Amino acid sequence: MREIAILGATGSIGTQALDVIARHSGDFRVSALTAHSNANELFAYVRRFRPRFAGLVREAPIPEDLRFCEWFFGEDANERVLRAAKSHDALCAVVGIAGLPAVMAALEVCGRVLLANKEALVTGGALVMEEAARRGVPILPVDSEHSAIFQCLQGGQEPERLILTASGGALRTWSREAIQRATVRDVLKHPTWRMGGKITVDCATMMNKGLEVIEAHYLFGMPEAAISVLVHPQSVVHSLVEFADGSLLAQMGVADMRVPISYALGYPQRIESGAARLDLLSCGPLTFEAPDEARFPCLRLAREALRAGPYAMIALNGANEAAVAAFLENRIPFGAIANIVEQILASTLPERISCVEDVYRMDKGARLSANVEIGRME
Ligand code: NDP
Ligand code: MG
Repeated sequence: MREIAILGATGSIGTQALDVIARHSGDFRVSALTAHSNANELFAYVRRFRPRFAGLVREAPIPEDLRFCEWFFGEDANERVLRAAKSHDALCAVVGIAGLPAVMAALEVCGRVLLANKEALVTGGALVMEEAARRGVPILPVDSEHSAIFQCLQGGQEPERLILTASGGALRTWSREAIQRATVRDVLKHPTWRMGGKITVDCATMMNKGLEVIEAHYLFGMPEAAISVLVHPQSVVHSLVEFADGSLLAQMGVADMRVPISYALGYPQRIESGAARLDLLSCGPLTFEAPDEARFPCLRLAREALRAGPYAMIALNGANEAAVAAFLENRIPFGAIANIVEQILASTLPERISCVEDVYRMDKGARLSANVEIGRME
């Protein structure tokens, strides 16, 4: 019986993970659940999965029948829950840099980290990978592209190139002018995946793919130049790996996050995920296009940040989180997200990042500058 802590249990990844776990109640036990502020939904999951520990960033009154569980509240609820539960596995499905301290704590106390929270690697990739290596704790990717690559690398051979596929997001076919004025409603209509708000906006700017290039760099130790991106609107090929002999291995399947979630949960075994089978006769034709960096500059910005170093990746992520939040609140136009990120990246001076405190300081600075820009636009 593996005990698992799920951080960000009320989100898109968290709820799908609970769906997979419910199919394997004899093999997995939920030891801890956390959320930010969605107390009622968390209560429902606590009632159903009966973890021994639970946490909410925003404190709420706990119903009488849920007092069997030990509760933690506040900004550090994830870390405190993890330290109390000491589970075999932690699934980090929190959104944003808020997941970084949770990932660091999970590496300290858990046997394996199942990682959905890509922002933790974008902002603290070197620190996270060093800590994982030092403690000998495996990080199993949950992001679908990285799970695909991880699956293709099971043969143990060194790849020459990684190829990340991208759906292209909700605005893939839009003109440059139309993209500038896309509304929240337009952007949240993702063609193939159902996900949380922040990542859906990142898909539409293609920042998501930029963050994923950085994520792949850290997870698989590949240089930026050896990580390509292909737009593949059908989301059937989830990513590919190229080897020295010219062979390409791809992982395919329906667009259902329960597949990469169950791969990480069951690893190295494969377990039933609940996903439908891919019907090759009806899923095609499969098409591939080069990403258009003129219409979607965020991919280029993320590559520039990766080449510049950790300080730039933290600035890129902080500016992006601030700009995406402002867009979702209808405070800035869609086109402003990329402009703000570009501006903050250009005006941030290099700094050495040697601990998580350096990461938070840099992140705070980037958000502050981004919010000044956002304020000017309102
Ligand atoms: P959602 O917005 O759907 O869910 C986020 C979850 O995190 C919610 O449970 C939220 O709680 C919780 N949360 C937010 N901040 C905190 C915090 N400080 N402490 C504890 N819990 C917190 O996001 P997604 O599930 O879409 O994404 C989660 C992560 O997984 C992101 O990093 C994303 O990039 C990555 N990912 C997601 C994919 C997807 O298909 N959704 C695919 C690949 C990667 P509350 O409900 O209370 O706000
Ligand atoms: Mg992905």
